[in-house]
Amino acid sequence: MVRLKARYNPKPTAQEKAFHLWLIESFPCACGCGQASTLVHHVLASHPAKRWRRDHAMVVPLHWTCHNALHAKGSETGKFAGMADKAAQFRQMGIEEGKL
Ligand SMILES: [Zn+2]
Ligand SMILES: [Zn+2]
Repeated sequence: MVRLKARYNPKPTAQEKAFHLWLIESFPCACGCGQASTLVHHVLASHPAKRWRRDHAMVVPLHWTCHNALHAKGSETGKFAGMADKAAQFRQMGIEEGKL
């Protein structure tokens, strides 16, 4: 049996939900397509700032069509490369803005 990293707090807290809405309202799709973002994606790649496999503070805003494309692809490559670094930057901005 494969032991996955703990999923700590599968549901986002109220503060994390507010952070997600702030990202969606404030930033366009992180893939660079120019569309408005409609949801947040929990980054798949590991990153030093990522605490859990599904960390609600390590997300990027995306348009839903780009999000579907990313998950169909199954990896953060191509135009989705660097998503973990972007998520870390969004997390830092969230901390500086008092959202996290
Ligand atoms: Zn996009
Ligand atoms: Zn996703």
